[in-house]
Amino acid sequence: MSFNNLGLSAPILKAIKDTGYTEPTPIQARAIPIILSKKDILAGAQTGTGKTAAFTLPLLQLLTQAKHQDRKSHHVRALILTPTRELASQVQENVEIYAKYLPYKSCVIFGGVKINPQIIKLRKGIDIVVATPGRLIDHLSQKTINLSKLEFLILDEADRMLDMGFINDIKKILLKVPNDKQTLLFSATYSNEIKKLSDQLLNKPELIEVARTNASSEQIKQAVYHVDKVRKRELLTHLINEGKWKQVLVFTRTKHGANRLCSQLDKDGISSVAIHGNKSQNARTKALADFKKGNIRVLVATDIAARGIDIDQLPHVVNYELPNVSEDYVHRIGRTGRAGNVGEAISLVCIDEHEYLSNIEKLIKKDIAKVWLAGFKPDPSIQAEEINLGGARGGNRSKNSRGSNSRNRPRNRSSRANSSRGSRT
Ligand code: AMP
Repeated sequence: MSFNNLGLSAPILKAIKDTGYTEPTPIQARAIPIILSKKDILAGAQTGTGKTAAFTLPLLQLLTQAKHQDRKSHHVRALILTPTRELASQVQENVEIYAKYLPYKSCVIFGGVKINPQIIKLRKGIDIVVATPGRLIDHLSQKTINLSKLEFLILDEADRMLDMGFINDIKKILLKVPNDKQTLLFSATYSNEIKKLSDQLLNKPELIEVARTNASSEQIKQAVYHVDKVRKRELLTHLINEGKWKQVLVFTRTKHGANRLCSQLDKDGISSVAIHGNKSQNARTKALADFKKGNIRVLVATDIAARGIDIDQLPHVVNYELPNVSEDYVHRIGRTGRAGNVGEAISLVCIDEHEYLSNIEKLIKKDIAKVWLAGFKPDPSIQAEEINLGGARGGNRSKNSRGSNSRNRPRNRSSRANSSRGSRT
């Protein structure tokens, strides 16, 4: 299969050629012709499958064909909604890359930065807006954006937007967009909530699924290292040094845990930086850029901060702590083994986390290889303790807090989807 047979015009094909992609990924091969036939789609695609190009390439093609070519009208023609600021930036970077031989202007809109520069850009006339829901609502209420002639609406990582409590914002946005638009909904998982949203939003959608939902990618070599909690940092340092890892994304459950791990790694002479919701947007952007450039070896992240981060050919992901939400395991390890590259995902598991591990294995429907590394074998006299989720997602939601008995219980997607918005980062 070649990109040339998909119905894309010369300027788009030239931009694809510049990226070095030789053939479409499965989601691209399936989705592009359907989107070009002007149908709505509901696409289940894991991260790293090439889904951004799967919607951006046909979107650009359709923009060249569609009705409003009056660029002075200052109406936004396409809106791409994403759950996080990082993902919004990355999608817009992709739009710019694929649109480089086309006249369309795009911009990114998210909170945590000044609104005025965004207003100035929007005033000049923007064709494609990539936005997170909260800041977009601010623009809508200030009437600094006009979506009344929108032709294309794309919801990227819709499952995560629902998890993050954006459903009401999405409903508000829908009131401001016309009915006769084409809508594309991308989601890594199909929950009942996604089904409900797609029933409301999509018109006779085509269903596209390129990988089993809730299954971890075959491209990823997974292993569990059994180790005592107090020796995890030592083991991580050992793995990084022994393996001569140059770039590793490490997940912790809490923001505090991320900071603490970074200072410990620094003491071990391993350059690292943390990325989480307590960091300013500028600090997060800089951390990601430094990591991508190879100036920093270890990026330590919490789940929401890392969601959607696209780092080319990231070779190693480490779960320093297993997530309390099993689906997050799939999202975390999806940061590696992307677009045809093989990656390695290692989880450091202490005795407290055995229940989390068995829930994850049930979800991905396979046993993960177990390693007891000489010198790091767990001390059998250590007893399991309850995991304190105080700083993790869901742990500090006092308004609808659950009883202390349930604090340590692994959560599934539907229980999380019912919880409040919480931190957006
Ligand atoms: P995404 O799933 O959109 O986050 O894309 C994951 C990665 O795959 C990104 O680094 C893209 O640049 C890359 N990618 C997208 N399409 C292709 C393709 N057809 N061939 C090779 N890499 C691709």
